[in-house]
Amino acid sequence: MTEGDYILGKKPDREIPADQIGRLELPPKGDLHPGPGNGDEAGGRTSPFWVKCWSCHQYLTRPLSPPSEQAYTCPNCGAVNMI
Ligand SMILES: [Zn+2]
Repeated sequence: MTEGDYILGKKPDREIPADQIGRLELPPKGDLHPGPGNGDEAGGRTSPFWVKCWSCHQYLTRPLSPPSEQAYTCPNCGAVNMI
């Protein structure tokens, strides 16, 4: 794994409006070792952005769609990660 394969989520230092918070997704079930560098292109998906939750250290995927969100909720522990 090289640096830059994932984004380390940051604990918000300010209030973030709910409408500016997107949702991260858990890696697909069955992936025993989720995380950047372990993904293969099986299924033909392009590589998602990886975000590592600051709270639970879970690797999560970030939707490729609108880049407007600056913060995402971790589906695992509920913490808000600033990007
Ligand atoms: Zn988390």
